[in-house]
Amino acid sequence: MDDLRSKLFYEQKNGYDLIDTAVRLEVERYAKEYMAFLNDSRTEREAVENAVRLAEERGFVPFVPGMELVPGMKVYKNNRGKALLLAVIGKRSLSEGSVIAGAHVDSPRLDLKQVTMYESDEMCYFKTHYYGGIKKYQWVTIPLELHGVVALKNGEVVKVTIGREPDEPKFVITDLLPHLAQDQMKKTMAEGITGEGLNILIGSTPYADDGKDRVKLAVMSLLNDLYGITEEDFLSAELTAVPAFDVCEIGLDRSLIGGYGHDDRVCAYAELKAIFDVEAPEKTCVCILADKEETGSDGVTGMQSAAFDCFMEDLCAAQGVEVRRCLEKSFCLSADVTNAFDPVYPEVSEKRSESKVNYGMAICKFTGARGKSGTSDASAEIVAYLRGLFEKAGVVWQMAELGKVDQGGGGTIAKFMANRNIDTIDAGVPVLSMHAPFEVVAKFDCYMTYKGVLAAYQDK
Ligand code: MN
Ligand code: MN
Repeated sequence: MDDLRSKLFYEQKNGYDLIDTAVRLEVERYAKEYMAFLNDSRTEREAVENAVRLAEERGFVPFVPGMELVPGMKVYKNNRGKALLLAVIGKRSLSEGSVIAGAHVDSPRLDLKQVTMYESDEMCYFKTHYYGGIKKYQWVTIPLELHGVVALKNGEVVKVTIGREPDEPKFVITDLLPHLAQDQMKKTMAEGITGEGLNILIGSTPYADDGKDRVKLAVMSLLNDLYGITEEDFLSAELTAVPAFDVCEIGLDRSLIGGYGHDDRVCAYAELKAIFDVEAPEKTCVCILADKEETGSDGVTGMQSAAFDCFMEDLCAAQGVEVRRCLEKSFCLSADVTNAFDPVYPEVSEKRSESKVNYGMAICKFTGARGKSGTSDASAEIVAYLRGLFEKAGVVWQMAELGKVDQGGGGTIAKFMANRNIDTIDAGVPVLSMHAPFEVVAKFDCYMTYKGVLAAYQDK
């Protein structure tokens, strides 16, 4: 009878029961590299900069429209320093389609407002406007660091990073002491901390004169010494406060990785590593690191931008192929994270369908909310294709769904790819505490996501 059960029933196994010591060592090696990348990539700009550096070290060159493309050639297109497209040219013509993997490198954060600096009661602050879906109460009383750019009128762009180095100061948003919080504690978690309450403390010493806003003047003159900027320059700045935690191993067994920005740099790194490792692919492989996913994929660097279409058109033109012929035969893995079943909060999940930590790359046939609203919903044929592909390549994977049917929902770049007439499916790493300042993923799932993307790139 047990034979019949194992023959007829679908049963999942913990990934660690499916791998040997050699693979475990590979998992560790991969995790180490990813942790270093994540630690140094705290904004989309930094992720793109690091990705370009790694790509150039591996022979990728900037794509120039009109350049001759031969199989095996590695090119990239940097979209305004905030999004990146890479390609390895395949042996076959683009008229037979390409294999695309698309992740995003923006993460929830606190952007500084354009008129950001103010002094109140001899303390100085930055006002912020949060970016992406956050639970605001999670962002107070944690160390923050400042990253971004200040664009000057003369065209110069000044890079700002404060708080990343151990000896640099950090920043913080204060919260009420429990002793005086009886009114605050009666509010809902959505209302307890407000958007306009997310003000970052940046200084407290007054400038040595008897004018007004002496603390603000002291802070501004420090910034002027460091970066040569004035308060007006904030008008044309993109500065963002991100958690100042280092990426680290979690758990006595060190099986998990804690850090800021796993969503979605964990899939971005998996794709990057996969396109670096692919050798002489049959079809042209394309790797997308997109921006603006957390705010709906709009804008020039988001996945709805024509920047992607332009890149694909240029590649196709080099081979005399119509881009629509290429796209209709292409396949896209929308590589984004999903919710990992959390035993502390089982009430929001339908256990059978939710992805689990250490069960491998998570495939979402559909995302969206309620009655599958806002999803591209991949076809059964595409899921079947992946089942076969992953079995051949030894990729440990699982199906995933974001919570109970009526609990909520979410989306990725998948629908924007599918709307372009590209067969697309979501696949990525399950995350605990997604969108929190400190998210958790399993090393095993990170590695299997890389293996999954590599298998797709290398398919015949
Ligand atoms: Mn994401
Ligand atoms: Mn997200």
